[in-house]
Amino acid sequence: MMKINSIKGMHDLFSSQTQNWKQIENLLHNFFDIHGYGEIRTPVVEKADLFNRVIGDETDIVNKEMYSWKDQGGDVLALRPELTAPSVRSYIEHSMDKRNKVAKLYYIGPAFRRERPQKGRQRQFYQYGIEAIGSEHPEQDAEVISMAYNIFNMLGVENLELVINSVGSRETKKKYSKILKEYLSDNVEDLSDVSKERYAKNPLRILDSKSKEEQNIIKGAPSILESLDDSEKKHFAQVQRFLDKLNIPYTIDPQLVRGLDYYTLTTFEIRTQSIGSQDALCGGGRYNNLVEQLGGKSIPAIGFAAGMERLMMALNLDKQTAEAKIDVFVISAGDDAVTNSLKICDTLRNQLGIKVMMDFTRGSFKSQMRQANKLNAEYVIILGEEEIKRKVGIIKTMSSGEQFEAPLDTIHKHFDVEHSKDDE
Ligand code: AMP
Repeated sequence: MMKINSIKGMHDLFSSQTQNWKQIENLLHNFFDIHGYGEIRTPVVEKADLFNRVIGDETDIVNKEMYSWKDQGGDVLALRPELTAPSVRSYIEHSMDKRNKVAKLYYIGPAFRRERPQKGRQRQFYQYGIEAIGSEHPEQDAEVISMAYNIFNMLGVENLELVINSVGSRETKKKYSKILKEYLSDNVEDLSDVSKERYAKNPLRILDSKSKEEQNIIKGAPSILESLDDSEKKHFAQVQRFLDKLNIPYTIDPQLVRGLDYYTLTTFEIRTQSIGSQDALCGGGRYNNLVEQLGGKSIPAIGFAAGMERLMMALNLDKQTAEAKIDVFVISAGDDAVTNSLKICDTLRNQLGIKVMMDFTRGSFKSQMRQANKLNAEYVIILGEEEIKRKVGIIKTMSSGEQFEAPLDTIHKHFDVEHSKDDE
């Protein structure tokens, strides 16, 4: 029969990797907790409209990359391509604004985009991120940006680059789009087909272009920062002042508009050269119209999302596998020994909470010893037919090779550190 493989760009993670993942996830849970952010877990499937409405019809994510299908009931559903829209959907649905002036949420979970897979780009990937919903003030921007940065910094990611910008309100974006279009009007023919389409529908996105020729054209474009009104300029200046106070290093790039349509005012991205061409570790920004756009009140918000796989790459934990190690391996020969083996494992785990395994293949003594070595067992307990007859077992310390016999009914006591201390 033909075997069935996983889907391109979607990967299995094994225990040698999930051990590292769990460690990083635990650090993240703790980091968010001490900042007063609470975890939210939303479904991986949502109505496709949620994303169509907020991410924008003209973005790649919605246009080309979203996994969506018609459900048997007639609804068009989608695998979430990001977690901000679901978080805001949940915020509105459960009237979270009534509970706290500012709702502070974080998430860690899978997202799906049908992109062309390459290093650092998958079709199922994990994102962690936060949403602070309810404050329009620049100190909230500073908290969110500094949290995003501090995670990488705390974990020791090198060559960090934080880039910030302000794209202003929806009106400012519209005003600037016109200015940009005017500037580009002489060069439309030199633009790629994709950019030509964007020129017509969403010119701001041309600034995201990675192509060298287009970058050359864009370089001379008027800065969006000049289109900001006074209060928008003041907001951005205050964000910078707060970041300076917090010793967060950043550069300003007026071309950082980010792919998603919902951003207003502050946008930011964190990159590192050490993970290859897909160098974005994290992206975020303000989205002051999103809550209202999804049917809620007019409530301002800001957040960020970061990729777990890219974080693991930046930490060099993507290839490095955690080493297996167990406390005790029980080797047994014969039916009676198997019964005793099961019992001893059970007692050691339940009474002492130590990590114990035994053979399940009824292999030879040699093969069981090989298993114990492979698992890096600190001790083995050997239950041969001869020993069982005499109601004893052999405890062997693997590092020194030393061994001694102990009565079967109290053999577990030799692994009780507290107990042996009492004996001394
Ligand atoms: P975005 O929602 O596009 O701003 O992405 C936020 C972060 O998620 C990026 O900075 C990446 O770290 C990560 N990310 C986005 N798309 C992918 C992907 N296809 N594969 C792996 N990581 C991704």
